[in-house]
Amino acid sequence: MKEFEIAFPLQHDPSEAELRQAAGRALGVKPERVSGVRIVRRSLDARGDIVYRYRVQAAAQGESLDEYTVPQYRDVRDAEPVIVVGSGPAGMFAALRLLMEGRRPIVLERGKDVHARKADVAALNRQQSVDPDSNYCFGEGGAGTFSDGKLYTRSNKRGDLREVLSQLVAFGASASILVDAHPHIGSDNLPRIVERIRNCITEHGGEYHFSEKMTDLVPFSDGMHKGWKVICEGGAVYEARWVILATGHSSHEVYRLFGEKRWPLEAKGFALGVRAEHPQTLINRIQYHGKFQPGMPPAEYSLVEQVDGRGVFSFCMCPGGILVPSVTGPGEVVLNGMSNSMRNSPWANAGIVCAVNPGDVPGFERYGVFSLLEFQSSVEKAMYGFSGSLRAPAQRLVDFCRNKDSQGLPRSSYQPGTVNAPLYELLPSPVYERLRVAFAAFDRKMRGYYTNDALVLGTESRTSSPVRIPRDPETMCVCGLEGLYPCGEGAGYAGGIVSSAMDGILVAAAASAR
Ligand SMILES: Cc1cc2nc3c(=O)[nH]c(=O)nc-3n(C[C@H](O)[C@H](O)[C@H](O)COP(=O)(O)OP(=O)(O)OC[C@H]3O[C@@H](n4cnc5c(N)ncnc54)[C@H](O)[C@@H]3O)c2cc1C
Repeated sequence: MKEFEIAFPLQHDPSEAELRQAAGRALGVKPERVSGVRIVRRSLDARGDIVYRYRVQAAAQGESLDEYTVPQYRDVRDAEPVIVVGSGPAGMFAALRLLMEGRRPIVLERGKDVHARKADVAALNRQQSVDPDSNYCFGEGGAGTFSDGKLYTRSNKRGDLREVLSQLVAFGASASILVDAHPHIGSDNLPRIVERIRNCITEHGGEYHFSEKMTDLVPFSDGMHKGWKVICEGGAVYEARWVILATGHSSHEVYRLFGEKRWPLEAKGFALGVRAEHPQTLINRIQYHGKFQPGMPPAEYSLVEQVDGRGVFSFCMCPGGILVPSVTGPGEVVLNGMSNSMRNSPWANAGIVCAVNPGDVPGFERYGVFSLLEFQSSVEKAMYGFSGSLRAPAQRLVDFCRNKDSQGLPRSSYQPGTVNAPLYELLPSPVYERLRVAFAAFDRKMRGYYTNDALVLGTESRTSSPVRIPRDPETMCVCGLEGLYPCGEGAGYAGGIVSSAMDGILVAAAASAR
């Protein structure tokens, strides 16, 4: 088998015959002696003539391609249960792996099913009514459902990326995610995929329980059996030997529960800042050097700058996307970005955030392990304190960096609206000072980025968990708590859809092996 690269013009999808010809040349055989050919990666190259570069695998007769097939799900009706708390990427993919291993997943989800959730998300945008159990972070599919749906983790260190991507394709995602350098699903497709995952789990004998919020976790041992009782808000109790905790980074009650029980927790660095929103046409012009043409994907960017010992970087960039209120409770303003599969809004947004480490938050030390959590929450509340609603305090970018109030604001995709605000005063000063330096420096990398046509909005604060639930690296359980498996973004071991899904798979495999 051999891998080779070939380029084709933007509008030209290579045919099987063209690929076989190229494969024959690469293998040194006639095209008829090529037994298999497959594209494994596709990336846009706009440095010279605009082309798609394809990485292709080819096999000659007598050889075979490196194929991956999704392992089979087993019927688990009579199998031993494993409770999975949370149905985000970590919980869903943990549950799917449990099916493969012959365990019966019982999924408990505080929010609603994905269809009911859609209505709550719409009400959040239009009426600013926050349901603390059903919003952009909570509900079926977790924070990944109404998101940008970027699947950018290319690292296989945490597990087999193909297990995640191939299943997403089997549940309805475009097969292009298997090869695209920057795979993306989009919020118009994600709810359908999430629903199919649930159907697969229940059809094989697993269970899903919505509006079932875990409020307590109690270990039990009756001589014969050892395990966990999961107690839910309405009084329901579920029991199993193994519990996978996949509750995400916004479920602060879970951290508080651990704190009350004096179970292991660590403060963990995270990042906080603003969302920057530019016209997409401007980003296209900068990134494609004025060569943007129909058929090309809206341009992305990724920026990083070290300022005074801390990284300032772009986070979760959404080309052709919109800004959404990703709050989980009243009295806070938090922003994130999402897009549909076409990525066709006129805006490009990204979090521009500054790393905050434990020890960086004077005045919050008294909260111990929760110091960064309290710091994060204080900034979200300060934003709400200024606007008195979900409207986002906002400024023009250059004004923000120059400590200057803006005269009028450009239009924004953020549906709850913006309010002209001295954002430079609302952000903690060590974060603000670094952001202003970084924004100016970004203009050296992307000429034209630093412009008053762009808007900065507060705040982007839920970049990752500010707390970690430490795991025993061998058992994957909470240190000292056998049978309790924290995973995903909430445990502090993952960030993003794919890495959370891979972490869910990792703990499901560990639980099944015991
Ligand atoms: C608007 C937005 C856009 C995003 N865009 C992208 C993107 O494009 N690409 C990307 O990689 N990442 C993106 N992310 C981040 C990504 O969604 C998360 O990293 C990922 O969803 C984390 O997965 P998880 O399963 O660990 O946790 P979550 O997805 O947060 O899921 C946790 C689940 O647990 C449930 N839960 C919480 N507490 C309880 C409880 N006590 N009892 C029962 N259930 C509970 C929640 O309701 C939720 O469904 C985005 C996030 C948001 C908010």
